[in-house]
Amino acid sequence: MKTHPKFQLHPEVKSFLKRGTLGGFVGGKEVFASNGETFNTNDPGTGAKLATIASLQPDDVSRAVDAAAQAFEKNGWSRLPVNERCAVVHRLADAVEKRKAVFAQLESLDCGKIYLQAVSDVENFITTLRYYAELAQHLQRRTVIAVPGHEAAVVRHAWGPCGFIIPWNFPFLLCGWGIGPALVAGNTCVVKPAEDTPLSTLFLAHVAKEVGLPDGVLNVVPGLGEVTGAALAHNPRLRRMSFTGSPEVGRLVAESCGRNLVPVKLELGGKGAAVVFGDVDVDQTADKLVDAITFHSGQVCCDATRWLVQRDVYDSFVNACIKRLKKVNIGYQMDAASKMGPVVSEKQRQRVLSYLEKGERGGAKVLLEGGAAKVAGHAGHYVKPALLAGSLDNVAAREEIFGPVAYVAPFKTEDEAIRLANDTDYGLANSVWSSDLTRCRRVAESFDAGNGWINSHNVVVHGVPYAGIKKSGMGGGVVSIETLLDYHRNISVIRPL
Ligand code: NAD
Repeated sequence: MKTHPKFQLHPEVKSFLKRGTLGGFVGGKEVFASNGETFNTNDPGTGAKLATIASLQPDDVSRAVDAAAQAFEKNGWSRLPVNERCAVVHRLADAVEKRKAVFAQLESLDCGKIYLQAVSDVENFITTLRYYAELAQHLQRRTVIAVPGHEAAVVRHAWGPCGFIIPWNFPFLLCGWGIGPALVAGNTCVVKPAEDTPLSTLFLAHVAKEVGLPDGVLNVVPGLGEVTGAALAHNPRLRRMSFTGSPEVGRLVAESCGRNLVPVKLELGGKGAAVVFGDVDVDQTADKLVDAITFHSGQVCCDATRWLVQRDVYDSFVNACIKRLKKVNIGYQMDAASKMGPVVSEKQRQRVLSYLEKGERGGAKVLLEGGAAKVAGHAGHYVKPALLAGSLDNVAAREEIFGPVAYVAPFKTEDEAIRLANDTDYGLANSVWSSDLTRCRRVAESFDAGNGWINSHNVVVHGVPYAGIKKSGMGGGVVSIETLLDYHRNISVIRPL
């Protein structure tokens, strides 16, 4: 097998995986489940066990929130001058940067993510921390408001202990999007990683301790969603909650937070459209959309999974895509030749296969048959890319599959394209493709979604809010200044003159 130069596991990765049961991290110490329960995390590319992890229980989660509350009140993190807090966050970014290969290997092994994509996720984590560490220093903590007859100001404070529940597709990157703004604002964090991919977040907790993040500021509670995640969502001592994952679980988390009147940020699923007009360069557009649907094996919330194509280029576009999809090199995630790795688990592979079956049964035309893929020497959870066509009412065109499956349909006019793109319960991200930039802007602004991209897909940039509406989320979004403001509570201070 031709392997990536970094395929040799880093000694730190080897020693981390050999430590025996990996615990959670609470109050600066490694902790194990009160009832001794554990779960395994596996390599999706081989199916082999990578590590055994402590499965924290509700009482453990409660102690983690207590530790975060105590750290907020007593260890001075929230009262540090903002530049000193940001210096610690920069040090954490430095430490992650120094161990980029270690984090990227852990992420690649645990998620089945192509190694270079894992490197890019680690870089994104570092950028997030630095972006917020810079931004926080320029945020006005006290804004004087000019009103007749009064002296008035709004003062911004940190909230206190904040909860974060993270999914398995971008565990490390999303952890950064969550804790970055929360930490620089002075909050303390309790992070629940997904049970399929806890390794990078657990390793982060050790690195954070090393760089001097005070004990209790970053706590990590690994465990099962319905036990550990539910206990975190139910905890009334949290002051804010952020959930990234499926709409089904998002609703449960929001219900728990609603009962406790804890503000919640939800970043949920998607069923994005790419609207392709007849004046595009067909080959270039096919290259980019095939790249997007095969990126991380299609396990990307904002992916373009519905391709709406103007009639005059429909046939040539479909043929160009099929040609490219057939050539995608499916292989082990750390093999340099691989373009697309496995999906995260056998459960996820079965989900993708069952949608292909349901879609076909519901009348979809199979333009490129997907299905399970075999990779020599690796008994992992591999699937082939698939392309379906037909009525957009088909289940495979309506529901989030979360695999390398696209659904294509023709349109005639711009109005029809906008109507079809917006005819979905989701509202995360769509793209428009045309050489007419005026039309592109008009269409992008007409999307009933949080993001409208032009001649590109999956464009998330620090500084530009990334959020979903409808079934794709609520509560403010991520990666922009608004997120930093979300992690502050306001107090209005006023004196009649
Ligand atoms: P999921 O909802 O199954 O799980 C997400 C997290 O919630 C995991 O940590 C899980 O352990 C936890 N969880 C499960 N049950 C719980 C419960 N009852 N109470 C509290 N927590 C619970 O989602 P997933 O399968 O891990 O991730 C895929 C989903 O995430 C897709 O829908 C995808 O679109 C979405 N996603 C959205 C974004 C975004 O930014 N909008 C980013 C990545 C993923």
